[in-house]
Amino acid sequence: MQQHLSINDEVRKFLSQDKLLLIDGQWQESRSEKTINVENPANGDTLSQLIHGGQEDINRAVEAARKAFDSGPWRSMTGSERSRRLWKLADLIEQNTDTFAQLESLDNGKPYTVAKAADVPLSVDIFRYMAGWSTKIHGKTIPLSVPYTPDSSYLSYTLKEPVGVIGQIIPWNFPLLMAAWKLAPALACGNTVVLKPAEQTSLSALKLGELIMEAGIPEGVVNIVTGHGDTGSFLVDHPMVDKLAFTGSTEVGKQIVRGASGNLKKVSLELGGKSPNIIFADADIEAAIEGAANAIFFNHGQCCCAGSRLYVEKSVYDKVLSGVCDFADKIKLGNGFDLSTQMGPLISREQFDKVCSYIDSGKREGAVVQAGGSGLDQAGYFVKPTVLAKTHKNMQVVREEIFGPVVAAIPFSSEEELIEEANDSNYGLAAGIWSQDVSKAHKVAEKLRAGTVWVNCYNIFDASLPFGGYKESGWGREMGDEVLNLYLETKSVCIKK
Ligand code: ADP
Repeated sequence: MQQHLSINDEVRKFLSQDKLLLIDGQWQESRSEKTINVENPANGDTLSQLIHGGQEDINRAVEAARKAFDSGPWRSMTGSERSRRLWKLADLIEQNTDTFAQLESLDNGKPYTVAKAADVPLSVDIFRYMAGWSTKIHGKTIPLSVPYTPDSSYLSYTLKEPVGVIGQIIPWNFPLLMAAWKLAPALACGNTVVLKPAEQTSLSALKLGELIMEAGIPEGVVNIVTGHGDTGSFLVDHPMVDKLAFTGSTEVGKQIVRGASGNLKKVSLELGGKSPNIIFADADIEAAIEGAANAIFFNHGQCCCAGSRLYVEKSVYDKVLSGVCDFADKIKLGNGFDLSTQMGPLISREQFDKVCSYIDSGKREGAVVQAGGSGLDQAGYFVKPTVLAKTHKNMQVVREEIFGPVVAAIPFSSEEELIEEANDSNYGLAAGIWSQDVSKAHKVAEKLRAGTVWVNCYNIFDASLPFGGYKESGWGREMGDEVLNLYLETKSVCIKK
């Protein structure tokens, strides 16, 4: 039975309000006249209007963050006090689960059920996890043996200090979660932030801004400026920003590195991927088929770690291919507010055209469409889950990130050849291995040049597990204790006794 959700009162009220900028603890108008139309990708309806923030807006936001860092209470507050406020924010997000899940579904197109089961609880979790770290950040004492002062002794220790004003630029595929991944560690470490959400999906970040104020996070600590890429570039170029954290495409990541060179601000990047998902003949094949389908089709393939290159050992290739195609054919596409929907639309017309043109390029280069292979001829940006066979390593669909529900299936016969092909990519974000031979899985995991390797599972995320890329997939690791390195400076203090 098809059950269609209704927009709840809170979401209705939120959508009808003017969307302003959060600067210095106040919702402020922009000095720029420009706006951005917010569209529901499932049907093209207009949901709201956003401010397209200009240079002046970014300047005000950065100045507020600077003032809050240099002279506000946040940095000097005890870890325990910061922790309580981050924990309170987590509670508030949790209490607003329905509202966030609805906003994500309307704004991004993903099923409400998915946003409710994954995006929102993962966002709550990272705030709680990072709230715990606020009280556990410390340096160490280090014994010295300075060779040229043999008669002196020293007490030396390190201090861990926040980096300062952080610019954070995030994408549209997991709008709330990406904001949470960025904000939680930066705040736990005592930094202040200017956040620039993606122009396609800023609604949940603005709603989060309301809760940030309600949680008692002091004014100016989190500032939110909506806008297009140029708004982000003003933040990248700004000389008062100490660090820039970015998640998005590798192409924009490279522009950010160039832009950040003005004041050599620190940069961390979580970029694209073309992740190999490998099925050995000794795998639990039914589990591997389902896992391979979910690896590529989860979030409509709009995941930087999507398992978009499916390598299957020759003896089970036909079985796996037909299983993944069956799975793809059965996925129910639809509006994210239909509770039976399993896959929503892509985010935008631009993304729809890009994904369809990749499918066409695959066909032109000789790939055979075994499932899907086109968009849906209806309102909204729906693309059918697509499986391409007879692909090879030189095709665009095997080399480039498509960021849509399109998987290239490739047979392999030897482990050596497999490792070489799997690593033959500019990217190195994630990989999957399906095998019941634990020893083989360990060995292959070691040889893969990827920041995350999932074995007999895929897309498993946890606030405690570092995530990030080798090669052109990025710089640094998000989550776990490792992310703290991105938001802390180390100061060495040396005292002559
Ligand atoms: P996608 O291709 O998935 O849309 P992008 O890398 O283009 O991803 O965008 C991710 C984020 O980066 C968005 O918030 C976007 O506005 C921002 N952005 C795009 N171009 C730039 C730029 N030149 N400088 C800074 N931010 C940018």
